[in-house]
Amino acid sequence: MRKYPRLILDLDVLRGNIRAVADMCKGAGITPAFVIKGCNGIVEAVKAVMDEGAKIIATSRLEQFERVKDYKPDIKRMMIRIPAISELPDTVRLADMSLVSETETLKALDKEAGKQHKVHEVILMQDLGDLREGFWDKDELIRAALYTVKNADNLKLVGIGTNLGCYGAVEVTEDNMKELAETAQAVEEATGEQLQYISGGATTAIPLVLAGGMPKKINMLRIGEAVLTAKDLEEIWRCSIPGVGKNVFTLEAEIIEVKDKPTYPKGKIKCDAFGFVPEYKDMGIRKRAIAAVGKVDYGYWEMLEPTEDGIEVIGASSDHTILDIHDAKRDIKIGDKIKFGMKYANMVFATGRSDMALYVKGDMKGENNYGR
Ligand SMILES: *Cc1c(COP(=O)(O)O)cnc(C)c1O
Repeated sequence: MRKYPRLILDLDVLRGNIRAVADMCKGAGITPAFVIKGCNGIVEAVKAVMDEGAKIIATSRLEQFERVKDYKPDIKRMMIRIPAISELPDTVRLADMSLVSETETLKALDKEAGKQHKVHEVILMQDLGDLREGFWDKDELIRAALYTVKNADNLKLVGIGTNLGCYGAVEVTEDNMKELAETAQAVEEATGEQLQYISGGATTAIPLVLAGGMPKKINMLRIGEAVLTAKDLEEIWRCSIPGVGKNVFTLEAEIIEVKDKPTYPKGKIKCDAFGFVPEYKDMGIRKRAIAAVGKVDYGYWEMLEPTEDGIEVIGASSDHTILDIHDAKRDIKIGDKIKFGMKYANMVFATGRSDMALYVKGDMKGENNYGR
């Protein structure tokens, strides 16, 4: 097994983030569903989330529930990628609740739940402009809600929801949240039943909560990034949640070459390892290093942030990361380790690799024996 590159998972920061987000949500009358897909459901991280008092955990990939299926079974599991027909048996077996946007899927889900002698909870999705999943036609959503309540014996309609800021990059605003609240009202009037959850969105809904603009009726958010990286929210959205810390995951890699080299390639420039034609700035001869980690491990080198001042990532290929260390504060040598902070996209790639070593650090409750 490789020792490096490795991920350092800081459970203290993760647990602190869960508490901070839970506090923020409590103040706003919101139930948080903690979304574990961003770190590929790494068991140590998921168990920490569950230990910290999460009422609902959520993911888009059912295998991530499989790995914790016997751990704290009273915590609700929510499938947040609208389920495929082919995965309905696993959806009913491993999840208690699903987001759904097709009446055909509702019918098949009802049948499957009946087969497994279970009642499966359903949140119907409304597309409010992001153009990913959800009913676009509000009347169709209301008909699906009526079908669920009146005709689907093995399903329970527990709410409606929406997702924004993923495909269409649409911002969560008071207006689109009010529209969701109105749909909820219409569904409640049509069915004659109160909905338990009005699920307003993901991490990108948090700026509106902190600004005090979230309509009262919105009472659930599905939150991953704000807890797992807490970087995108702050750096892209310029919004930070009190008490939330960064670097839940840090990437650490080993230096395999250190040399003074030109900064502009010598010879005719065609294209790089992935077929792109990059641009190079000629800064003369600089001291540079290669770290044994690459795009295959983290996706986008531009998003990596070395934790030491004076080190800059200047490029990468599949398994090599080129660093400018000319202004580094220490004398970096072969065999040294360099650490990088990561954005959400980096974390998704890095935690998904089976050959990535993992080092688990810190634990306030002293129960660090999660085992893998
Ligand atoms: C991924 C996802 C989330 C969580 O998104 P974050 O940005 O990590 O908070 C919530 N809801 C749905 C439907 C998702 O697919």
